[in-house]
Amino acid sequence: KSHGTLEQSQSGSPAGQDAADEAILEVSGLTKIYPDGTLAVDDIDFSVQDGDFCVIIGPSGCGKSTTLHSLVGKVEVTEGTVELDGEDITDAKTHDRDIGLVFQDFQLFPHLNVEENIRYGLERLELPSSEIDQRVDEIIETMKLSGNRDRDPTELSAGQKQRVALARSLVLEPKLLLLDEPLGDMDYKLQKHMEEELLRIHREFDTTFVYVTHDQTQAMRLADQVVVMNDGKVEQAESVNRTYNSPETAFVATFVGDSN
Ligand code: ADP
Ligand code: MG
Repeated sequence: KSHGTLEQSQSGSPAGQDAADEAILEVSGLTKIYPDGTLAVDDIDFSVQDGDFCVIIGPSGCGKSTTLHSLVGKVEVTEGTVELDGEDITDAKTHDRDIGLVFQDFQLFPHLNVEENIRYGLERLELPSSEIDQRVDEIIETMKLSGNRDRDPTELSAGQKQRVALARSLVLEPKLLLLDEPLGDMDYKLQKHMEEELLRIHREFDTTFVYVTHDQTQAMRLADQVVVMNDGKVEQAESVNRTYNSPETAFVATFVGDSN
């Protein structure tokens, strides 16, 4: 009997995707150790289905932002792989990845007006200018920014700024949009309003979101799928219902059950 030194039948069909395998994002064994020795992300696995609204939750410092930054290439991973739509992008350059990232503090270009902010990334793509104009017009309409086209970012409210940041990413039609605590600095009423906006945008654009928050009640309102992180590890990655009704660890039970 073989003792497994000749692993010939171990890995199944090499070519052809299974029908069930519709993950747009596949994260395997992802690990990040920062140069100072901090183990921020510790061998995590999760996948995200095409079109889902996936929310990563966990307490401050558990590794959520490091995970997002690894996906988009802003952080160089120590170990593990990231696959986008079946393609290994672990070592790809940030601008070669078909992934958008929206920050809590928006990071709009202060010297460009709303339209120019939205247009900026598009001009790098080699598209006919008529298509650029059309895409910009469409997104400004959809994001309800028509009255603010010529305004500077400093003249906008927090909600408007976040809509510009979303528009700037979505106009590039990424396969995946990452959002790092995008409503974090907003008051409760604006948060609730922006949650509705995000759900509408997610539906209308038919895109995949990976959304990070430390607010478990927000996660429950937004998510199809929840990834619960704690201390650099993934504790559970499942549907909202299963996470809520069948927590797999004591941490998940406490964190998810602890509404406000
Ligand atoms: P979260 O987004 O969940 O709050 P982070 O991913 O920002 O968590 O941080 C995870 C851990 O990594 C924390 O202990 C944090 O202090 C540490 N960390 C984050 N960025 C760096 C860095 N550039 N260098 C060293 N440690 C870092
Ligand atoms: Mg963070």
